[in-house]
Amino acid sequence: MNINNNITNLKQNLPHHVTLVAVTKTQPEASVLEAYQTGHRDFGENKVQELTRKYEILPKDIRWHMIGHLQSNKVKYIAPMVHLIHSVDSLKLLQEINKQGAKNNRTIDCLLQVHIADEETKFGFDESEIITLIQADQPAQLTHVRVRGLMGMATFTENEAKVRKEFKKLKSIFDRLKAQRLPENVHMEVLSMGMSGDYAMAIDEGSTMIRVGSAIFGERQYPAS
Ligand SMILES: *Cc1c(COP(=O)(O)O)cnc(C)c1O
Repeated sequence: MNINNNITNLKQNLPHHVTLVAVTKTQPEASVLEAYQTGHRDFGENKVQELTRKYEILPKDIRWHMIGHLQSNKVKYIAPMVHLIHSVDSLKLLQEINKQGAKNNRTIDCLLQVHIADEETKFGFDESEIITLIQADQPAQLTHVRVRGLMGMATFTENEAKVRKEFKKLKSIFDRLKAQRLPENVHMEVLSMGMSGDYAMAIDEGSTMIRVGSAIFGERQYPAS
């Protein structure tokens, strides 16, 4: 894998309104550094332990994105340094992020994860749950979080029409929310959708942030067990 070429080529072809999050889960620090040396700063991890380990070792101007399922009891470990949490899937989790934001004297940026796939295993809110949350004005009390938009993952399938339909659905939820009166700390600016296999389609359907791992770094480096 030529990480330098992969990331440079990918970014050259991205529209200016789209941010690339380079997903480094299971990849060694050396690979993160290789991407970093091209000038890239946004990196994503899906496990708390791996994110905090890499944060300790790697340059401090990296913007770390938490993209994987997050348990409330682990928020405290990433609260000091996380740049954006993509995977907020409950009010309880948002409340805990707020609490840890307050403790760390900062406001933590978040995305609400929306359930768009068929699979049971993909976490997230339904549109109606987000609307209820917003109408109850619940986020407004959480002064140490800022909701910046939505994140979604399409069904893992070869069926492109199905994936496109799910992206369209997420974009339409995003647009409907954007048209509403939102709490002061809720904004619809960021739409995180698209991975290695489907990011071109996601951009086509309105994504502003893509999360790409294997197309840059190759196969994931699962530890031998
Ligand atoms: C692993 C992962 C990605 C990146 O997947 P690739 O197919 O390797 O690009 C994106 N989003 C989430 C939430 C992930 O866990």
